[in-house]
Amino acid sequence: MMIDYILKGNICYSQNLQKIRCVESGYLVCIDGKSAGVFEEVPEVYKSLPIQDYGDKLIIPGLIDMHVHAPQYSFRSIGMDMELLDWLEVRAFPEEGKFSDVAYAKKAYSIFVDDLVKSTTTRACIFASRHVEGTWVLMDLMEKSGLVSYVGKVNMDRNAPDYLREESVQKSSEDTICWIEGTVEGYENTKPIITPRFIPSCTDPLMERLGEIQRKYSLPVQSHLSENLSEIEWVKELCPTSKFYGDAYHQFGLFGGEVPTIMAHCVHPPKEEMELMKQQGVFVAHCPQSNINVLSGIPNS
Ligand SMILES: [Zn+2]
Repeated sequence: MMIDYILKGNICYSQNLQKIRCVESGYLVCIDGKSAGVFEEVPEVYKSLPIQDYGDKLIIPGLIDMHVHAPQYSFRSIGMDMELLDWLEVRAFPEEGKFSDVAYAKKAYSIFVDDLVKSTTTRACIFASRHVEGTWVLMDLMEKSGLVSYVGKVNMDRNAPDYLREESVQKSSEDTICWIEGTVEGYENTKPIITPRFIPSCTDPLMERLGEIQRKYSLPVQSHLSENLSEIEWVKELCPTSKFYGDAYHQFGLFGGEVPTIMAHCVHPPKEEMELMKQQGVFVAHCPQSNINVLSGIPNS
């Protein structure tokens, strides 16, 4: 059962996209796990509730992390002398390969989730690795944490080392279905999200299967888009029929519209890509720290 209570402190929150309201020494009333409002004085109806007084401290709503890779937490801040594609080869892939070991996944993900709980983030969209069991481990930990999240088992059937690349389209899609079916029960606050790593990691036949799986299970989608100039050139070579990078997702029905979609980075989108994103309602996760750390650039549009 939820306990109702009041928090006292300097409370700041956004009332809408244009306006932030700040109430000095205000009262935030929590009823049944939800905010019932911010007040300058405690309303009569709530006067019997216990008050936790945080004095002069700032009270803000929890933050939402739209894009985070749980397996990359252990080596954060390392490898900043490399751009994206080298950094993936040298840092990200070798570490993610270790998540085939469930004991390692438990240990590493426990540290990630423990730290997340202690942070300002209360909701997150998370990439796991391509491993089914490891992804369930992360989802179990997130569920126990009380935080609210989407977690994705990553799909990747090309351009990755043997130890990490999924062996076939069939195996990748079977694993994805097995993983999704395993999340139908037992999770209240932790939901699956379809997660093709990025176009260079996924063949057209795999993207087609993921489109079918998305439609069958009505799940949202997360991936990466137009992060780095070398990556964008590579996508042009890999997908000669796509008009631009985003079109390589769009042609398989994995780019907004009916499908809630988050695309990470979007540092160098051409005009047509931005127009399609706007038209399809694709959410952008800009990741400015990462864009600086791997020298992807600064979005200027
Ligand atoms: Zn990412």
